[in-house]
Parts: sequence; C-alpha cells; structure tokens
Amino acid sequence: MASAKIRVIIIGAGIVGASLAFHFARRGATVHLVEENVQAGSGVTARAFGWVNIINIAPGAVNYRLVQEALADYSRLRADLPDAFVAARPGSLFWLKDTAETEAFAAAHLAAGTDVELVDAAAIAAWEPNLLQPPACAIFSPGDLALDPARLARDLIDAAGVTVTLGRQVESLILSGDRVSGVRLADGAIEADLVILAGGTAVDRLTESLGFRTGVEASPSIILRYGCAEPVVNRILCGPGLEIRQSADNILHVAKGYIDDAAANAPERVGQRILKVMHERLRLPEGVSLVEAAAGYRPFFSDGMPRLGFLPGIEGAYVAVGHPGVILAPLLGRLAAEHVMEDRRSPLIPSAGLI
Ligand SMILES: Cc1cc2nc3c(=O)[nH]c(=O)nc-3n(C[C@H](O)[C@H](O)[C@H](O)COP(=O)(O)OP(=O)(O)OC[C@H]3O[C@@H](n4cnc5c(N)ncnc54)[C@H](O)[C@@H]3O)c2cc1C
Repeated sequence: MASAKIRVIIIGAGIVGASLAFHFARRGATVHLVEENVQAGSGVTARAFGWVNIINIAPGAVNYRLVQEALADYSRLRADLPDAFVAARPGSLFWLKDTAETEAFAAAHLAAGTDVELVDAAAIAAWEPNLLQPPACAIFSPGDLALDPARLARDLIDAAGVTVTLGRQVESLILSGDRVSGVRLADGAIEADLVILAGGTAVDRLTESLGFRTGVEASPSIILRYGCAEPVVNRILCGPGLEIRQSADNILHVAKGYIDDAAANAPERVGQRILKVMHERLRLPEGVSLVEAAAGYRPFFSDGMPRLGFLPGIEGAYVAVGHPGVILAPLLGRLAAEHVMEDRRSPLIPSAGLI
C-alpha cells in the first residue's frame, strides 16, 4: 500500500491516534480522524501522569530497547514541533529503597547504553530544596520529559492538519469482500483505503467483527491531581511510595498503582492518604488540596509489548495500540507510517498474529 495518496481513517484521537495522524499526514496521506468523545486526548490519555521516561523501566525488560528508540523519536518530535513542548520539563530523579539498589540500577542502565548519572544527597537537596529527606543518592535521567499528553495529542492533530470528526462513534467497519473499505457512524459512512484502529482498550470491539482479537487488557492505575499555589518540585521525583511532578500551572500530579475495588482504596481515599505522604516528604505551602482523583484504564498486553500491524486475512485494516502509550506514541506513529507507506516493517515489535 505504498501510495502517498492513500485515504486513511484513524479511529481514536488519543495520543496514539494523534501521532498516527501526524506521521501519515507528513508522508502525504489524506487522513480522517474519528473520535467518539467531544475532545481529542480525552480517553485514558487525559489520565496519564505524563512521564516520558526510560528510568522507570528495568534494563532487560522486554520493551527496554523499544523505549530507548521511543525517546529518540521524542527528541526528533521536539525539534520538529518546539511549540508543543514549551511547557514540558526535562529530567527526572529516581531512587530505590537503598543506595546499593539505586547504584546497581544506574549501572544496569549505563551498561544498556542509556544516558543516566548518579547524583548525591547534596546535589538532590540543591536541585529540590523542598524535598525534606533527600535520599543518599538518586539517578538523574536527563532525557526524560514531563508533559501534558492530552495537550500533546491536540498539538499533533493541529500540526497534522487533518480532517477530524469529534463526538461520533465508529459503530462498525464496512466490508467489501475481503477488504475493509470504510467505517460506519450512526449517521453515515466514510470510505477509505485503510482503517487504523487506535481505540486503546476498546480496540477489540471492532477487530472482533473481523474475527481477530488483539487480547488487549484494561489495566487500571490512579491519577491524582492537587491544586497548589507555588512551585514545589522542579523535576519528576520518583522514590518508594511517591511519584510526583508539577506542571507550569503548579498542579501537583501523582500516579499510584490501583489496589482493588474496596471503598477504602477508591481513588478519592487514596488521594487523601497520599496528601499526608506528600506533607511528610515535601515542604508544601498552605492549602494544597486534591482536585482530581480517578482511575484510568491502560491498554496493556500481558507480554509487555504493543501491537502494530495489518489484521490477518483481510485487507485495509491496521491496529496500533499498547502501553506505555504516551512514551511509545511518536514511535508507533512513525513505524506504522513507514510500514504502510514505505513497506518497511520494524523488527522492534513482534508481529503477535498481525502482518
Ligand atoms: C494513572 C495513569 C498514569 C499513566 N502514566 C503514563 C505515563 O507516565 N507514561 C505513559 O507512557 N503512559 C502512561 N499511562 C498510560 C497512557 O495513558 C496510555 O498508554 C495511553 O494514553 C494510551 O493512548 P491511546 O491513544 O492508545 O488510548 P486513549 O487515550 O484511550 O485513546 C483511544 C481513543 O479512542 C476512542 N475510541 C475508541 N473506540 C472508538 C470508536 N469505536 N469510535 C470512535 N472513537 C473511539 C476513545 O474515545 C479514545 O479517546 C498512564 C495511564 C494512567 C491511567
């Protein structure tokens, strides 16, 4: 399908769909993005913590190499679209429960070719004066970025200059023989040469009609946001029990693992408990309060890898989905566009039944 004039429909305007739109449009495709919510970037992308990082991934993890490549894609994207990154903050500090563990983790990252540096308590205290008990050492990861993923999704769509239909669900795919030739909405149809399914956790709702399941799971995690009147932290800080960043509007963002459905572990209750932890660990101004507490469902595969490729046995349908979607989005967009439009399939992502 190596034609610059190809008509592409992308289902889902999360960070992944937005990146696909950007990369396909850049290569000359005619792109139509369809999103059931009224705003782009309002699926789980709106609940992401927004940490583009490698430091939180264990060297040796199945997706480590992929994430290294993804960070390089972010650097290129940043050079390409500087305005989309004006509010992004570079660099994070990461530490484990003791110094030996942190040092070993840093050594493993360095051995894997990742640019990290060990910093001592004095440096940490100078960089983060509101951290009350700085660890003896931490890993500084200069290539990491903190950003607003929903805003980046919208900026990518604007930069792509594609047709966007918001507030309309794709109800089904149109089949013409053994080929997908478009999508059906409640009030009409759109034709295309290729339909890309980038609907996150909902992707199998549509692939199933073609007899294929990606096996995507919905993996919950909690996002907490706190109103704050002043700057408190400069970088992303990630240590045992607390993963926190602050955006330019001074909102403090915290990500927490989901425990269970018990009332005591509801996002709001977790948010109040974490506020106490924040007071123990950080010098906070008066009046910091929880303004958002919600669970988000991440599109996750049990093998830890994303899915990217044509559906088997049928022409004209492509899937792009996976975790960590914010980190991987620019890479997935580029690889999909290269695959479809330049007939180059990356060996970085296993086929997992796709073509
Ligand atoms: C608390 C939390 C913290 C996280 N932190 C990070 C992080 O720091 N870094 C990171 O990389 N990832 C993080 N993630 C994961 C990240 O949010 C997801 O991996 C990523 O946003 C997935 O993007 P997506 O575009 O695939 O999905 P979505 O954002 O869900 O986009 C899919 C879109 O498709 C639309 N859609 C689905 N079906 C249809 C249809 N039939 N018709 C029309 N539209 C449809 C949906 O409405 C949705 O908007 C975090 C997640 C959570 C919950």
